[in-house]
Amino acid sequence: METGHECRATPSSMKREKRLTRRERKAAGGSDAATGNAAHIHCVACGRHIDPSEFTRTPTSARYLRCQHGSRHASCTGCVSQAMELLQEHDRTGEPVRMRPPGTEFSGGHL
Ligand SMILES: [Zn+2]
Ligand SMILES: [Zn+2]
Ligand SMILES: [Zn+2]
Repeated sequence: METGHECRATPSSMKREKRLTRRERKAAGGSDAATGNAAHIHCVACGRHIDPSEFTRTPTSARYLRCQHGSRHASCTGCVSQAMELLQEHDRTGEPVRMRPPGTEFSGGHL
């Protein structure tokens, strides 16, 4: 099948659409701080920023843990065991939960 002749109908609108999507991408990436929500949740174990929707969507990727004072502490579902340890330490010492900065997570076999 050779259809090499009928190519005069080049859609010029496609180029414009490409430009638009690029701009939209940029705008979407920088709008994180624009949300005026007071609730700014971070995982107590790894410090990752957790979106409130992560607690409710399926599958959930974050959950709240309760310390002995009854306070809620957010944690990624993958960090729960680490977060529990931090909460136990916090309950024992009475000090605020110490968030581990990224890169200093347990790197295996050192427990
Ligand atoms: Zn985490
Ligand atoms: Zn944050
Ligand atoms: Zn507490």
